[in-house]
Amino acid sequence: MTNKNGVLVLFSGPSGVGKDTVLDIVLNKDNSLQRSISLTTRDIRENEVDGRDYYFISKDKFNNMIENGEVLEFAQYGKNLYGTPKGPVDKWLSEGKTVILKIEVQGAQQIKKIYPDAVGIFVLPPSMDELENRLRSRGTENEEDIQKRLEIARNEVAKSVDYDYTVVNDDLDIASNDVLKIINAL
Ligand code: 5GP
Repeated sequence: MTNKNGVLVLFSGPSGVGKDTVLDIVLNKDNSLQRSISLTTRDIRENEVDGRDYYFISKDKFNNMIENGEVLEFAQYGKNLYGTPKGPVDKWLSEGKTVILKIEVQGAQQIKKIYPDAVGIFVLPPSMDELENRLRSRGTENEEDIQKRLEIARNEVAKSVDYDYTVVNDDLDIASNDVLKIINAL
């Protein structure tokens, strides 16, 4: 028996890089891993489920949760807020679990200040042209949102040097295996 605290993994990468797909494969292959479900004020997409992909909540509810200290970190991305619910993460860490936060770079920086031992993994696209192709082909955003996401992506990719590990998502199987190997070695 051990009371060892769990490990926090910060999983970042630009919109459209395939983070969710890589993460789904990783979680399917290792069901000891715990994924945190984030809060967001953005609209739900057609293929998403409330409580599975995100907790889709109003801005008022989000702000209330911040005031009540229920949010571990949060950031504005585009016009929306995204954040990590604190309670479940604290509980999983105290149980010694490896907890994965899918999070953009500002949130990751906040977490690093609270949990310096958190491990950052950044998923890179093979190229920015390929990222644009992927973002367009998924067809979930309008042109304005795509441009905004590409602008954010360029800034995020520049910050990938601050992460402990980077993984290029060219081939899904290779990328997800690389992520699994990193996590298993922690
Ligand atoms: P999307 O709208 O594509 O689902 O997510 C937009 C961005 O928000 C992505 O970079 C995603 O990783 C990030 N994100 C998702 N959940 C959280 C969170 O809880 N906190 C922060 N800071 N970013 C998040």
